[in-house]
Amino acid sequence: MPTQALTPITLITGASRGIGAATARLLAARGHDLALNYRRDAGAAEALAAELRAQGRRVLTLAADVSDAGQVLAMFERIDAGLGRLTGLVNNAGIVAPAARVQDMSPVRIEQIFRVNVLGSFLCAQQAVARMSRRQGGAGGAIVNVSSRAAQLGSPGLYVDYAASKGAIDTFTLGLAREVIDEGIRVNGVRPGIIDTEIHASGGMADLLPGAVAGIPMQRMGRAEEVAEAIAWLLSDASSYTVGSMLDVGGGR
Ligand code: NAP
Repeated sequence: MPTQALTPITLITGASRGIGAATARLLAARGHDLALNYRRDAGAAEALAAELRAQGRRVLTLAADVSDAGQVLAMFERIDAGLGRLTGLVNNAGIVAPAARVQDMSPVRIEQIFRVNVLGSFLCAQQAVARMSRRQGGAGGAIVNVSSRAAQLGSPGLYVDYAASKGAIDTFTLGLAREVIDEGIRVNGVRPGIIDTEIHASGGMADLLPGAVAGIPMQRMGRAEEVAEAIAWLLSDASSYTVGSMLDVGGGR
């Protein structure tokens, strides 16, 4: 039995740029109606939405901090009213922080990383499961969590807090997948390597990129579109027997 309605309705968190925006473009081309979440950059989200609406898709833009339970609930209620019952969620919103050793990380920094990267993914998944679960009147669906190769590399001297938050996403993916698969919801994840987006500059890490790229077997950064392909496959019925898996998209790293 197919797990998705005729027109998939998918929420992508952190869709205003980078991997989230590339995923939105690919899913729109594959016939998804989309809810595009962002935190601050309304202009970027609106420009993307206009581009995708011009292709005939229904698109909502939704400002919400994914680490705030009230804002997440309000976001899902707007999707219910504006698009209908959700069939897909991409837990993509995530942040890094400037390079630091563990002993120098402030509690505020560590807490913020875990709030956005981990709590935010839990909060969005809770709302998505409530709408997708066949036990709760839903039609099933798929969730893709965006982790990182850092989860397995640890990122010493850079951002062990970020790496650990992505390790939590790996375990969250496995546990949630096994918890909800018999309700018609497939949960999987991707672990991108070093991808050419603005996240590195936002974390004050742009200077470290050339050295990091030298350690990638493919000798180049990945493109957001290359991660989007993996996400789109995991969301689609083409991956119908793939459950609780993490797909590395890291150029061999
Ligand atoms: P990016 O270019 O920095 O984009 C991050 C997106 O997340 C933006 O749309 C941002 O919205 C949004 N966002 C940040 N905090 C948010 C919050 N609290 N609530 C809602 N939205 C929030 O990042 P990216 O490189 O595309 O990364 C996307 C995901 O891939 C992240 O989970 C990241 O950890 C993961 N990843 C990236 C790489 C890489 O090398 N780029 C590697 C491995 C994993 P605003 O613009 O409105 O603030």
